Amino acid sequence: MLIPILIALLVAFASMQLSSLCTTIYLHRAMAHKGLQLHPAVAMLMRVEIWLFTGISMREWVAVHRKHHHFTDEEGDPHSPYLKGLMKVLLLNAMYYAQEARKPEVVAKYTQDIPRTRTEAVLSQGWIGLGIMLAAFMYGFHLLAGGWAGPVLGAATFVVQGAGYIFSSAVINGICHCVGYRNFNNTATNLRSVAWLTGGEGLHNNHHQYPASSKFSMRKWEIDPAWPVIQVLTKLHLAQPLPLPQQG
Ligand SMILES: [Zn+2]
Ligand SMILES: [Zn+2]
Repeated sequence: MLIPILIALLVAFASMQLSSLCTTIYLHRAMAHKGLQLHPAVAMLMRVEIWLFTGISMREWVAVHRKHHHFTDEEGDPHSPYLKGLMKVLLLNAMYYAQEARKPEVVAKYTQDIPRTRTEAVLSQGWIGLGIMLAAFMYGFHLLAGGWAGPVLGAATFVVQGAGYIFSSAVINGICHCVGYRNFNNTATNLRSVAWLTGGEGLHNNHHQYPASSKFSMRKWEIDPAWPVIQVLTKLHLAQPLPLPQQG
């Protein structure tokens, strides 16, 4: 059973990393901030990954995130640690997100530029995507480990990767507005260790300064793991980033 457990840990980590990359490139940099355009096939692949692994509605995520930028750390910010407290954001970030995402007027106001499509309506049914991927994990680990333990391990792996993804979002929204260093004069902070694990999202101070930049690293010693992915996609003519901001 040791080898299936090790494989489960690797699969959970890889799934979380894949979801982080799809979130930061597709949901965040491309859809919320229009910092780059993705080829429709790449956009659809990333959208489906988000549907299967996170159950997130694109319109809701974009709306809540744009509202966060609009009211950053002031009254109206859906998940500011200054308003709600750091521990509450770390523990309840998903609840704060859901409270805001459930407001049709917020979603309508902040997604006026995003066309309503039938595909997105289907992919907004998050529980269906999550159910499909949970079943796939259970079946995959049944083939790997057999018996009743395989499906249980598969379900546990799926829950762990989801919990890791939720916690990493909470760390960005909470810690990356309180702890770390600042290159620019805004309330967000940079944490390089968090950036490594979240596809560059931990460089949050840089992001709040230049929201439409598709590259989050600004200094030589900062690493944005999503940026080389965007560069490869750009070389393959599958992505088109906006010109990067000039900064010192
Ligand atoms: Zn922020
Ligand atoms: Zn943003």
